[in-house]
Amino acid sequence: MRNNKKKSLKRVFQIIAIVIAAWIAVNLCITAVFTQKIPHRYASAEEGKELLLSNTEYYSGFTQNDIEFRLKKTGATMDELLQTSAEEIRDYNLIEKYFIDHEIAKMAIRLAWNGYELPETEKIVFIKSDMSVEMGNSGYTHGTQIYLSSGFVTIYSFMSIIPGFSKFFDELLWHEYFHCLSRCNPEFRAKMYSLIHFTVADSDFALPPSVMERYFSNPDVEHHDAYTTFVIDGKETDCFTAWITTADYAQVQPEDSDTIVALVPIDGSDIYYTREQTSNFDEVFGTNTRYVLDPEECMADNFAYAMLYGIKGKDYPNPEIIQGVIDAVKR
Ligand SMILES: [Zn+2]
Repeated sequence: MRNNKKKSLKRVFQIIAIVIAAWIAVNLCITAVFTQKIPHRYASAEEGKELLLSNTEYYSGFTQNDIEFRLKKTGATMDELLQTSAEEIRDYNLIEKYFIDHEIAKMAIRLAWNGYELPETEKIVFIKSDMSVEMGNSGYTHGTQIYLSSGFVTIYSFMSIIPGFSKFFDELLWHEYFHCLSRCNPEFRAKMYSLIHFTVADSDFALPPSVMERYFSNPDVEHHDAYTTFVIDGKETDCFTAWITTADYAQVQPEDSDTIVALVPIDGSDIYYTREQTSNFDEVFGTNTRYVLDPEECMADNFAYAMLYGIKGKDYPNPEIIQGVIDAVKR
């Protein structure tokens, strides 16, 4: 009798082990097949540093105020900024690479399942960074380089086994992927921006002196060429957006520093307006996301929600933006 009980217990454990092994094998196969649908690779720390420093156009746009805010140091130099940025690039380990492969496979499966067809991008390169220079961000991009926070990658690659835990990471990847799609496909970018009433002009607008001195660069936003009509003091004014600090670094303690979106008239006037001065800010950007520094960031979030949750998966204040994204990518 006891022997029989032992035998059946052993059998149960064997079945559980077989089911787990089969589940892992199926998962590995599905990941291996689908992750290739979105071409990507991983940069070593050494290559990542080189790639980061190759973004010379981005660094050439930095002002002294911008450098000081990022390094939290009065009198900081561009050389220090480049050195600190490069020093915080890390290697991915095997578990982290598998986790991201698995995430990418989930994205490809979702696209196939929903019948969505996205425009192509150049091969995406994942680079891991400690992000202190980018103010502790969870991710950012240059071209088709996606930089992910080392802390986030480590936590999520171990904890994603918990159902639902990877939700934030899923949103992050779709958001960063949008920036790559948008850069590689001007028509797609213009279509996405039009969903929040922005028009892409033929060339970038110049930042006037009052904006330039407080300008805070954002690697995800490469251009200031999109504008829309804001109602400012009752008057319709065509403006583009720029991200600025509210004070010079030298005047404030880092903990008191803040950034805002500046609405800059496209007619070249040396002035900017704040969102509080407009009566239609929320009507322009919608309120699906509060990340509205720029049409690029606003649409990256809306795109992420559309891909991840669809039109019914979330209670959107502005479902028409989500529907517009879906209509644009539906086969
Ligand atoms: Zn972004």
